[in-house]
Amino acid sequence: MPLTTATDPLLPCQPTDLMAALAHPVHPTPLPSPRWVARCDALAHELDLPPDWLASDDALALLAGNRAPAHGTPLATVYSGHQFGQWAGQLGDGRALLLGELDTPLGRQEVQLKGAGLTPFSRMGDGRAVLRSSIREYLCSEAMHALGIPTTRALALTGSPQPVRRETVETAAVLTRVAPSFIRFGHFEHFSHSGQHGVLRALADHVIDRFYPACREAANPHAGLLQAVSERTAHLVAQWQAVGFCHGVMNTDNMSILGLTLDYGPFQFMDGFHPGHVCNHSDTGGRYAYNRQPQVAYWNLFCLGQALLPLIGEPDDAMAALDSYQTVFPAALTQRMAAKLGLGADHPHARTLIDSTLQLLAAERTDYPLFWHRYTQWLAAQGEAPDQPQAVAPLQDLFADHSRFDAWKNQFLELTTQHQQAPDANLASKNNPKYVLRNHLAQTAIAQAEQGDAGLVAELLAVLQTPFSAHPEHEGWAGLPPDWAAHIEISCSS
Ligand code: AMP
Ligand code: MG
Repeated sequence: MPLTTATDPLLPCQPTDLMAALAHPVHPTPLPSPRWVARCDALAHELDLPPDWLASDDALALLAGNRAPAHGTPLATVYSGHQFGQWAGQLGDGRALLLGELDTPLGRQEVQLKGAGLTPFSRMGDGRAVLRSSIREYLCSEAMHALGIPTTRALALTGSPQPVRRETVETAAVLTRVAPSFIRFGHFEHFSHSGQHGVLRALADHVIDRFYPACREAANPHAGLLQAVSERTAHLVAQWQAVGFCHGVMNTDNMSILGLTLDYGPFQFMDGFHPGHVCNHSDTGGRYAYNRQPQVAYWNLFCLGQALLPLIGEPDDAMAALDSYQTVFPAALTQRMAAKLGLGADHPHARTLIDSTLQLLAAERTDYPLFWHRYTQWLAAQGEAPDQPQAVAPLQDLFADHSRFDAWKNQFLELTTQHQQAPDANLASKNNPKYVLRNHLAQTAIAQAEQGDAGLVAELLAVLQTPFSAHPEHEGWAGLPPDWAAHIEISCSS
């Protein structure tokens, strides 16, 4: 790695004893002929990066892993975890490197490269990420943020002609991710299971001091931490369920201690509504099906609770902390789903209407985003005549069985007119995005980018950054997926 004279906005990671136990210094491995694939100017602006820095050759070299940061050495951290329900032992940042930190208007942020070469934790892997999966993560990170769903962010994506072998030979890419912290449940599991309880304590105290300071006041601060993480995770998963997002690999090493969506792999925004939908073709048992995500999140929190037990002390205190998930999650989900209907969670018929709507959608696997978008338009157009054929037709047309739809509509109208709180079209419109990153949209942008034209990646990003807006020039992106979308296979391979 050549010495660098570049002036980076990045600060080195603080060399604490905790960092020494958690992380190994690693130099990124350069790639041939690095090029920009995408840069997220909106995030650069939010981070208050120096103007034009992100477009500079200096930034390209740094974010492709082709030069060292001006200060400090990048770090790869060790973690362990449960994968598909089994203890998998030591894992770690096999292809992620912490480049440094930024002091920003959003607070202190960590900057990480994904795909910048081998680390001591690469195991059988090559330390690389392919362009295909990196575009998916880049777009989805920013799309989730725009939907108001907590997530790691994506600042930039670089590509290289370097071949990378997966099922076929693809090419390499390096994603720059940004988050207040990339600490996972798996970091806690690692130091707990390996009996390094001093490091476990230092890690928990670091996370409390930096991100959950209110837990210091709790009678048992480590139980307080478990409760706070359970609540954040409950809110996160409620948002996933409401928007129809399937994570695909909810292993404990992919669970953020901050309740962020983390490690985008075989994720999918559901097209047709199918509660048992499994988006990850490697998940043959359906462990991470859409309708199992809430329970899996609890299972993962249980693993975190077990890892924290040496600090918490009493198992009953850990169980009490976890209990909060069982109340916060259903309440958060009801509130999110009621809001999609334009109702307050306290509407006396909210639960009935949520259930009957989901049953209606499941019956024909009706397109989930499109239903909610047309529902919102129907609500807005209802005025004095909700039953007016012109107003209801676009929604009704999504169903082959009109009588089933009509039964739902009649129940809806009866229960909502009975009560003085009428459905609020404005509330519905804020909770029903017109645009989500459907698999086929990502796939179309990927296919072009693989031919050397990343224009669609930028265009798609621009639409996904304002997913509740109209974008008439991209009406098609809000429509039903083409038939070939059903055959897109997304696996763990990335
Ligand atoms: P994931 O399924 O992407 O969450 O990855 C599980 C573990 O495998 C993590 O420790 C990753 O860092 C590691 N890993 C995944 N892909 C690679 C790769 N291509 N090279 C090295 N490590 C990898
Ligand atoms: Mg992972």
